[in-house]
Amino acid sequence: MIIVTKSDVSDAEIDHIRERIESLGMRTHLSRGERRTIIGCIGDESLLDEVPLRSLPGVESVTPVLKPYKLASREFAADRTVVRVGGRDARAEFGGRAISVIAGPCSVEGRDMLLETAREVRASGASMLRGGAFKPRTSPYAFQGLGEQALRLLVEVRAATGLPVVTEVMDTRQVDLVAEHADMLQVGARNMQNFSLLAELGRVRRPVLLKRGLSATVKELLMAAEYIMANGNHDVVLCERGIRTYETATRNTLDVAAIPVLKRESHLPVIVDPSHAGGDAELVAPLAFAAVAAGADGLIVEVHPDPERALSDGDQSLAPSSFALLMQSLDAFARAAGRTIAAPVEARAVA
Ligand code: PEP
Ligand code: MN
Repeated sequence: MIIVTKSDVSDAEIDHIRERIESLGMRTHLSRGERRTIIGCIGDESLLDEVPLRSLPGVESVTPVLKPYKLASREFAADRTVVRVGGRDARAEFGGRAISVIAGPCSVEGRDMLLETAREVRASGASMLRGGAFKPRTSPYAFQGLGEQALRLLVEVRAATGLPVVTEVMDTRQVDLVAEHADMLQVGARNMQNFSLLAELGRVRRPVLLKRGLSATVKELLMAAEYIMANGNHDVVLCERGIRTYETATRNTLDVAAIPVLKRESHLPVIVDPSHAGGDAELVAPLAFAAVAAGADGLIVEVHPDPERALSDGDQSLAPSSFALLMQSLDAFARAAGRTIAAPVEARAVA
């Protein structure tokens, strides 16, 4: 149920409406937009049958939300959400007019390669650095990531470049450690329905990059976001990264339609990972263009200084020079979609 308030509603009236609803054991969520204020109600809606909500002072309209996701639903927010990542010295944002690009290696393999990649992607216009520390690998014999050492390298390279960093958290036991180091926590496709992890991330004061599960529906992705939000963290960025279909010519099938569908269903920003979708460096640019044309708020792209020697996902990693070309070509697609590419980090306030 959402309550839209009158434009001249007072704070006291809002408090009164919320108190009436919460006294029934329901939860409320306030969303103040530029032009309207929405009070979302969560819980057993039949409890509200006895309350004359429409006649409470300050109430304009009352509408049921039939979707199973509430906090994540478009109706619950007065405006689209802009998720801000990082602190004073290293900042990025998702969901505004500008498209932000996250780039970096699949895995952090060492200091030199991370710093080199970060410098190159920053020079090409990336807003954030990615790099896996704890890697979800299909084989237990494959490189599993440098773990805590990689987290320390990410912090070091953030300080050197001003790029906020995102890295995956695979397990509830890693949440505090990863949150101490990273500006944004990634939930990988394989963990999208790890509900205890999602609940734990609700308690963290860091934005979450939530990747769509390998075979998850849009609704399941939004319910996963709802888990994080219901537990207290509203800074969630959704990521379409391709889904498993019968097609084997690509690693996954990029579900381009999911971008406008997610943006219709939810106020949360939506970004796209063309690297894991196609699984092939040659496909990264065309899939990135399609994503931006379809309304994506950002991209996350794998870049490696020497893709041939990458310890994970080399086939789909771009060399820095190819990433530079991608960024140059992306600009026209962004403009055609009525967007811009986020200003380079140098142009922002970096200490
Ligand atoms: C990754 O970003 O390196 C990764 C493992 O992605 P996904 O969870 O989408 O497969
Ligand atoms: Mn990868």
